[in-house]
Amino acid sequence: MNTELIKGDITKIPADAIVNAANSSLLGGGGVDGAIHRAGGKQILEECIRIRNRQGKCNTGEAVVTSAGKLPAKYVIHTVGPVWNGDEVKCSKLLSDCYRKSLELAESLGVETIAFPNISTGIYKFPKELAGKIAVETVKNFQSEIIKKVIFVCFDEENEEIYKKLLN
Ligand code: ADP
Repeated sequence: MNTELIKGDITKIPADAIVNAANSSLLGGGGVDGAIHRAGGKQILEECIRIRNRQGKCNTGEAVVTSAGKLPAKYVIHTVGPVWNGDEVKCSKLLSDCYRKSLELAESLGVETIAFPNISTGIYKFPKELAGKIAVETVKNFQSEIIKKVIFVCFDEENEEIYKKLLN
């Protein structure tokens, strides 16, 4: 599995799957979630509503999949990151779960390339350095015959600098 760093907007990335930092309602929000729903169109929200009607809300650390609407990807994997509350052990485990469960779901869909945003480091206030470490570690520990490339998409400069160091 190769890793790559891209600075920019995840809605523009033509990967098999892009990951959304959703909230547990699955009904859309701000940040990357808002950007994905805006660019992808209403099909994504309609599928999220169907998932909600079937299974209820999505718990923190879990992941669900929809199609990608108008985005240049095949799937959107929606995962719910932890809101940082200072409990490092618990929050770290939940953030790692987000990456692992997203990769497991991607693998089950035959995804070869997947792009992640920096989950929880926006509105959810997870410390960026620690979040980056957990993201890179979890991805590197994931063995896959199917997934060939993982792209870390950094939207802000601070995350870009952190990931540059972590991936070197
Ligand atoms: P969370 O609620 O999980 O913190 P946010 O969307 O607020 O989710 O932030 C997660 C990360 O996504 C932040 O680092 C933010 O800078 C980044 N982000 C915001 N918009 C985009 C986008 N269009 N593409 C990629 N990353 C984005």
